[in-house]
Amino acid sequence: METLIESNIAQVRQQILAACSISGRSIDEITLLAVSKTKPVEMLVAAHKAGATEFGENKVQEIVAKAEVLGTEDYHFHMIGHLQKNKVKKAVELSCMIHSVDSLELAQCIQKEAQKLGKCQDILLEINVAGEESKYGITLAEAEPLLRQLAPLQNIRVRGLMTVAPYTANPEENRIFFRKLRQLLIDINGQSIDNINMDVLSMGMTGDYTVAIEEGATHIRVGTGIFGERDYSKKE
Ligand SMILES: *Cc1c(COP(=O)(O)O)cnc(C)c1O
Repeated sequence: METLIESNIAQVRQQILAACSISGRSIDEITLLAVSKTKPVEMLVAAHKAGATEFGENKVQEIVAKAEVLGTEDYHFHMIGHLQKNKVKKAVELSCMIHSVDSLELAQCIQKEAQKLGKCQDILLEINVAGEESKYGITLAEAEPLLRQLAPLQNIRVRGLMTVAPYTANPEENRIFFRKLRQLLIDINGQSIDNINMDVLSMGMTGDYTVAIEEGATHIRVGTGIFGERDYSKKE
């Protein structure tokens, strides 16, 4: 198991390197999130041994369980799934970044909990770039007005934008969506909104991360490509 994860990570790094060289970027610009949802702690440990420090999870309960064993000093958890308000307290306590903020109410709730902890919480706005019915996230047009409302909140820092692109066998089909997200970030930064200067683009998963890097991703979220297929049949 360990060696497989190790070689998977090595392979992903090679792909990252290749995509960086195609697009004239430096590998230092890319943060690899190992998406460890549904996977046991031992697999996170194996990934950590292979150099992974950033882990993506989509359920707060899972972050709680894993952080209890692994701590949050060496293992940095990113909340990448839909976040319910009653889970915000734990999410703020244990996540270095929340990628899935999609409403003012949720952001205010994060602000409140972060303030209690004396923390400044890094967040991203989740954008449903392709306008898929089944997906969470706000529209491209809703991003700027929401950002203006978030700007005064002292205990959150909007670091950038995140998207979950459509599932497709052909990653080239998602290039347009990645390009749109990057353009949105550039446009909003150009507005010089007080307190808002975004530098993170969280986009690209196992099937399409090289295209995402070519289009400006700073954070890629790779699950299957590191840990193998997920098995949802066992629990829940
Ligand atoms: C599960 C998940 C991923 C990883 O997906 P893979 O296709 O396994 O790489 C990335 N981002 C989000 C938001 C996810 O929920």
